[in-house]
Amino acid sequence: NRDRILQSERLNVVSELAASVSHEIRNPLTVTSGFLQLLYKSTNISLEEKGYVELSLQELNRAEKIVSDYLLFAKPQSENMVYSNMREESEYTRNVIMPYAAIHKVEVIFSFNNSLNKSYDRNQLQQCLINLYKNGIEAMKEKGGGSLFIEISESKQNIIISIQDTGVGMTKEEIARLGKPYYSTKEEGTGLGMLMVYSTIHKVKGNIEVNSEKGKGTTFLITIPT
Ligand code: ADP
Ligand code: MG
Repeated sequence: NRDRILQSERLNVVSELAASVSHEIRNPLTVTSGFLQLLYKSTNISLEEKGYVELSLQELNRAEKIVSDYLLFAKPQSENMVYSNMREESEYTRNVIMPYAAIHKVEVIFSFNNSLNKSYDRNQLQQCLINLYKNGIEAMKEKGGGSLFIEISESKQNIIISIQDTGVGMTKEEIARLGKPYYSTKEEGTGLGMLMVYSTIHKVKGNIEVNSEKGKGTTFLITIPT
């Protein structure tokens, strides 16, 4: 129990830190990238120098990706708070993920059946869902595609979000490492996606259950009390 309290305090600190860092870092990234693009167009620099500028722009892009994929929505903003049944967020995020699913030959099966309302930060919830969908899709890469089942429903006074993939699956040890900062098994992974997911669900007093079988796939079952 003490461990759990420590864990939840850690999540709060990390998410607040991440939020302010990402916010502060975004502007300088944009400004620097703008000047480098100007430099890139200059006719006064050599081909070799142009190569350096190009590399710098690529690296800046990667930093920008980390910020916007994982940390941008961490900043709590009161105007983002809604009291709703999540329909808009789930439909919006499903549409956002569709092209990514198509590229990876993943079929998305979506169903929505929830009338319960809950207060939550709209942006954070969207980011959380997108991170879970992305992980599901990426888990099917090795298999050359598969199916992603997204189901939003209700049971008693709880909103239930189930996200199931037919991907590579995880061992118990791997499941236990989910949400630890920078834990990633991917070449270009940031290891921040699940941290964001746990922190968001924790904020709405929800619970995450992970069922996974190596080689078969994974189901994330999220229960949010209303
Ligand atoms: P990243 O996606 O950048 O690696 P995440 O925090 O989103 O970081 O995920 C951490 C790790 O958890 C992943 O690298 C992967 O090994 C594992 N993981 C997460 N979701 C799944 C899933 N649906 N199926 C299999 N492994 C997963
Ligand atoms: Mg991820």
